[in-house]
Amino acid sequence: MKRNVNALAKGLLGSGLVLLSLIAGAQPTKPGAPGEPYPNSPEIAPIGVRIGKYMEVSESAKGPAIDPAKGYRLEKLGPGLYLVTDNAYQSMFLEYETGVVVIDAPPPYAQHILKAIGEVTQKPITHVVYTHDHIDHIGGTKSLSLATSATIIAHEETKRLLARANDPNRPVPTVTFKDKYTLKAGSQTLELSYHGIAHEPGNIFVYAPAQKTLMVVDVIFPGWMPWRRFALAKDIPGYFAQVAEINGMKWDKLVSGHVERIGTHADVATQLEFMNDLKAAARQALQSTKPGEGLTPDDKANPWAVFDNYIDRVVIQCMNTLAPKWSKRLAGYDVFIWDQCYAMEQSLRIDGE
Ligand SMILES: [Zn+2]
Repeated sequence: MKRNVNALAKGLLGSGLVLLSLIAGAQPTKPGAPGEPYPNSPEIAPIGVRIGKYMEVSESAKGPAIDPAKGYRLEKLGPGLYLVTDNAYQSMFLEYETGVVVIDAPPPYAQHILKAIGEVTQKPITHVVYTHDHIDHIGGTKSLSLATSATIIAHEETKRLLARANDPNRPVPTVTFKDKYTLKAGSQTLELSYHGIAHEPGNIFVYAPAQKTLMVVDVIFPGWMPWRRFALAKDIPGYFAQVAEINGMKWDKLVSGHVERIGTHADVATQLEFMNDLKAAARQALQSTKPGEGLTPDDKANPWAVFDNYIDRVVIQCMNTLAPKWSKRLAGYDVFIWDQCYAMEQSLRIDGE
């Protein structure tokens, strides 16, 4: 009987609390379901919440139009050196006296690379250079129908990763290097070099000295917000260092592997400034946010919950710090800014400064 009285009392108390919270405008929350929004929540929808209309892409981020009948465009970068792009991916080829060197073959338009080369020359592809092992940049290599005599050059880490992947679309390199490799093809030259992990182990710089063109893939995004989480950089401090290094190097044209146009020094400087602002905002947010504040008391014994709530509030502060200066300066800002703030706060806590 006593138990029943207690149950009745609890029930009454329970409905009283429900009533009170309804009067106060708060809905009772099912465990795991969204609760009240955090104070000062940004206007940009968080990850996993549908955005009704994305922010406009600025004219300065756009490139020359693609002929839909072709599906790609060709841009001459200098003597014998050409950009091939579908305005989402970028690759290059270099013509020399007796053949052609292809640098990357992204699957979205790999079938067009032979046609693109055919616009310039009938010479055969004698070499392929892989910038790195990722499918989205070299997964079209098989469709180039290379002669068995063709040479495939990549960093030794790329060879290791491709041997592990065992993917027929990405044949294993036949020539590898560790630090530097100079490819002489007739009178043309490509200087290949390795500058550390950053985006991916084995991701190299390809420099064409006669054309003053540098190709580094998945690091710089001219006019655009980098792809989510610093373009999935495997080493975020290394990624910051590499952007600064590219900023300080001498070149005239940058082929970055993505987006609608080639890059300039101003693009690299802008990205570096954004990244440094992001790092400062996340650092400040980590310093001024206290774990556990505003957390439901029942959750305080759950360390995952304490950190999820803490990190969310750090990221919201990071978002709010950056928005006034940056939300209109980089195309796709609204798409990936949450991801960048989450990646930055994590890197500062885990990797350090
Ligand atoms: Zn990649």
